[in-house]
Order: sequence, then C-alpha cells, then structure tokens
Amino acid sequence: MSPAATARRFFRALGTLCFPPYCAACRVATEPGVHLCENCAGGVQRIEAPFCQRCSQPFDGAITQQFTCSNCDGRELHFECTVAACRSRGIVRDFIHAFKYERQFHLRHPLAGWLAHTLDDPRMSSRPFDALVPVPLHHIRFREREFNQAAELASLVSQRCGTPVLHALKRTRYTSTQTKLDRAERMENLRGAFRVRHNARVKERHLVLVDDVFTTGSTVEECSRVLLRAGAASVRVITVARG
Ligand SMILES: [Zn+2]
Ligand SMILES: [Zn+2]
Repeated sequence: MSPAATARRFFRALGTLCFPPYCAACRVATEPGVHLCENCAGGVQRIEAPFCQRCSQPFDGAITQQFTCSNCDGRELHFECTVAACRSRGIVRDFIHAFKYERQFHLRHPLAGWLAHTLDDPRMSSRPFDALVPVPLHHIRFREREFNQAAELASLVSQRCGTPVLHALKRTRYTSTQTKLDRAERMENLRGAFRVRHNARVKERHLVLVDDVFTTGSTVEECSRVLLRAGAASVRVITVARG
C-alpha cells in the first residue's frame, strides 16, 4: 500500500473512532460507509415505471407501454432524456436543502448514491457517454455557497463509474431565483445565462448533464441547447430528484 493510501486508511479509521457512523436522517448507529439506516432508506420514493421516457415524470395510473407526458409531448427539447432517481419528497428533499443551504456537506454521499442509480436505467446504460458535465453556478452564488452542489455530485459519481467530469459550461449571467416563474418565464429568464468554456472539448462527444433536482427542466434544457450548438453529439441528464 502506498504511504498516501496508508495515511488515508489511518485517518478514516480515526474518523470512525471519533465520529462513529450514524444515519444521516435519524441518527441511529450504522455500519461504516452506510449513510442511511434501513428504515430511512425504505422511506425514499424511487421513481419507478410508469414514467415519461423523456422527463421521468411519474404517472400515477396503470399503464404498461412507454409514454411521453403531456408536458414533453410535441415540445422541442434538446436533451434526449432526464433520468431522475427519486421523487423530491421527505428526506430526499430535506437532504438536498440541507446540503445546499445549510452546509451539511456530508450529505453529498447519500445524494450521490441515489444519483448513481440513474446509470442503471436503460436510457443511460444502453449507450456509453464520454463525460459528466455539472450544471454550473454563477461565480457570485459560488462565492456565497463555496461549492457547486452539481459538481460535487458529479465528482462522486465519476469516481464510481470512471467517466471523467468535464466542466464545460460557465454561467455568465446571474439569474434571480426562478421559483415563482412559470416555464415560459423561466426559459426567457435563462436565455444567454450559460456558455461553453473555451477549450472545453464537447465536439462530437456524448455528454451527461448533472444536477441535483429537476423542476421544470428549463435549466437543463438551456444547458443542453448551448452544448449541442457547440457541437456535442448528444446530451442526456441525470438528477437526484424530480420535483
Ligand atoms: Zn435512519
Ligand atoms: Zn415528460
């Protein structure tokens, strides 16, 4: 074992001694490397079929064939599909909020664990991709938050799947919070907010955009449009949660 690996193992063991592992939601003791107890993990609502093939919007009725939701049907979208792991409810929503706004940085582990499940979806696993591209933050917001949640999640997923992270996008315009806007207003608000970095190798590459949550899809749609215009071969999207 290399000295660095030995040191890492030592500090991990020391960390386990000082901070025994516990469930990030209810704080009962867990095994090392386990971030959620079985009970809490069981309460997470995974997005399961039937759902829209394009945006993963779950369909509550009984349907067996593949379908596209009324929101995506007939709409010109630049991303091929968005694969979301969980519904944005309960602990998933709480974790995303605490990770982004309350500096609970350790929550990146369970969040990335859910995000990694999206790679098993046939929309992702049936065709390889060349790079994971995090949705960027504007530098003002980055300074406030000190990290980009999408980049942190992309980096952990990259460690698991071996595909590199490509910081291909830059957010050039600061946009106010979008929560009160409808879809058309969001698209308008985002126009020109992103650009592809000089030297970012996106031409003819199959890219996967990474974000924490998919709400109306305006952000990933605008990012996809910009990447395709710069010559990307295709864009798919993975997110931890779907609103
Ligand atoms: Zn728990
Ligand atoms: Zn849809």
